[in-house]
Amino acid sequence: MAGVLKGHCLCGAVTITATAHEHSASACHCSMCRRWTGGPQWGFDAPDEAVTVIGEVRTYRSTSFSERAFCPVCGSHLWLRDDGGPYEFVPGIFEGARDMPLVREVYADRAFACAQLSGDHERVTKAEYEAGKPHVEGGA
Ligand SMILES: [Zn+2]
Ligand SMILES: [Zn+2]
Repeated sequence: MAGVLKGHCLCGAVTITATAHEHSASACHCSMCRRWTGGPQWGFDAPDEAVTVIGEVRTYRSTSFSERAFCPVCGSHLWLRDDGGPYEFVPGIFEGARDMPLVREVYADRAFACAQLSGDHERVTKAEYEAGKPHVEGGA
């Protein structure tokens, strides 16, 4: 949890401030994240009480227990969130997230050839991830 992060979508209609947050990012290659982003989904957590969102946001419920948020004007992806869980923000909308290291890659064995991530971060396969989360996915 380091520093205040301020970010905005591509068009500027949505601004987000997080006064507390993880300072490391994960990547997910599951089929939902891949379709939503076109590549891996990047995320870092910020607790609800530390977050201020200004501007209209649209959400899409990609599962029965989670939503994905985006700017209705420019389409920028903003966050993924499980019900009752922290925000999982996309780092790219925050300049202050520039130096966040990648610490975890989920569905690593499902990554497209063009989305292979180098480094010695933790890699979790589809089978490993889903074994710990009985509610997830449906066909990556
Ligand atoms: Zn926008
Ligand atoms: Zn995913």
